[in-house]
Amino acid sequence: MKWRYLGTSRIRSSLITVPVLVLQFLTACSEQTAPSDPLTSIQVWGGIGQSARAGETITAVFVVRNRTGPAAGASVGISIVSGGGQVRPAQGLTNTDGRIEVQWTLGTEARSQRVKATAGPGLVATLDATVLNGGPPWSLTGFPSRLSGFRGSVVDSPAAVRLLDATGFPVEGESVTFSLASGDGTLAGTTTLTDSNGVARLGAWRLGLGVGTQSVIATAGSLTTTLDATVTAPPLPQLNIEIRSYSVPSWEVSNAVSAAKARWETIVLSDLPDVTVQSKLDPSSCPVNVGESIDDVLVIVWFGAIDRESWVLGEANVCLARAGSGFPLVGWIRVDAEAILKWGFELEEVIEHELGHVLGLGLGTQWAIRDAGDSFMGDAARQAYRLAGGTYPATCGGWVGTGLCMGYPPVDPWSEHWDETVFGRELMSQVASIGPEPLSAVTVAAFRDMGYVVDETRASPFHLSSFLAALTPAEHGRFVDRVQVLPPLYVGADGRIVP
Ligand SMILES: [Zn+2]
Repeated sequence: MKWRYLGTSRIRSSLITVPVLVLQFLTACSEQTAPSDPLTSIQVWGGIGQSARAGETITAVFVVRNRTGPAAGASVGISIVSGGGQVRPAQGLTNTDGRIEVQWTLGTEARSQRVKATAGPGLVATLDATVLNGGPPWSLTGFPSRLSGFRGSVVDSPAAVRLLDATGFPVEGESVTFSLASGDGTLAGTTTLTDSNGVARLGAWRLGLGVGTQSVIATAGSLTTTLDATVTAPPLPQLNIEIRSYSVPSWEVSNAVSAAKARWETIVLSDLPDVTVQSKLDPSSCPVNVGESIDDVLVIVWFGAIDRESWVLGEANVCLARAGSGFPLVGWIRVDAEAILKWGFELEEVIEHELGHVLGLGLGTQWAIRDAGDSFMGDAARQAYRLAGGTYPATCGGWVGTGLCMGYPPVDPWSEHWDETVFGRELMSQVASIGPEPLSAVTVAAFRDMGYVVDETRASPFHLSSFLAALTPAEHGRFVDRVQVLPPLYVGADGRIVP
């Protein structure tokens, strides 16, 4: 206050005194706030490499320097960068050694956590800490909160639980066991360990045949939680497969075609939109006329030799697919009925297999977007595969990366069928087998993954261990089929070809 008083009085008294006034002002100023050297750095001084449980408090020390050494009285702001938690103080001054000590209570939001200290523009130091495995398990919660499915089908998404400690931090490596609480369903992969997020997933849950609510109970130590599924009946079958034969089939062939068509129409239930074809097509690759209305899938069937030198029994192609969804509109199959009967195969099974391709297994948009090369990445198929005895390949070694190591059913990358060495006699493996070729729940579930409404209770009983490839006589192991030998055209809802 002294300088202000002097200044005003001298201004009033005389203009000559102005230089003196300025000098006095500067002198007075320096007495009030001592000019310090500019700050040059802030660094972590103590507390590197600490680990503690969430909710515990650790100490961090930062040091601030100027050109001559540690800077006393420097203002430092402290804040959490990641992990949640708290710091005290959030703002403070360095002591005479240029240091500031911070109490850091670790949060529950991340395993690796970070705080930062700021002493001015560009002067920032960060310190990391690691949260140790959480305390004892405290809470077990199931998710998703709502599961559903048709009776006899696998649930719509994998049932899972999350295990947390009292501070809300994930508990890793704890055993969780799932068991049926109500309903006559089937489970697979019922005992599993929580991962680093505290999550444990039930391998598979096929619902029982009743409708209403069915439940599983998950247990981790003394904690339990219940997961409910809402179970409904599937709708009535609505898929119509129209068969058009190119030649007059024998009674035997005609019966086999009817049976195969009926089989698929009770498994795949979807009603696809009718389409009236408005574009002219090449009759040699897709024999459909302009103005023809198709509900839901038209399949043209040829019977005759295909390629006996290469042991080809059948061929399947979609020549006209629906733009957008990729579902088929017109397909054709070729079946060497004479060779099939001569070698003792079931004609109905071969036709069923080829119709399966036309509907989308191994070809088309919906298959392609889930095809990881070595596996089919659909969650319904994964659960059905697990229930059929499917396991992770030994080569995965605990490392989860590719589709196979995530438990998805294996695919033969060369032929776009289920892997013959795993699925053996299943209907949609490539090599034809003598005797029953079950249309498994894995195949039905794959159609569900591809976007069809399906009835999984219509699948044939199938377990991988009972249908190994070795059961197929060696001399029959060479009979195969071919899929999508010509690329499809795509048609819009207006019946015109989409470029
Ligand atoms: Zn095939």
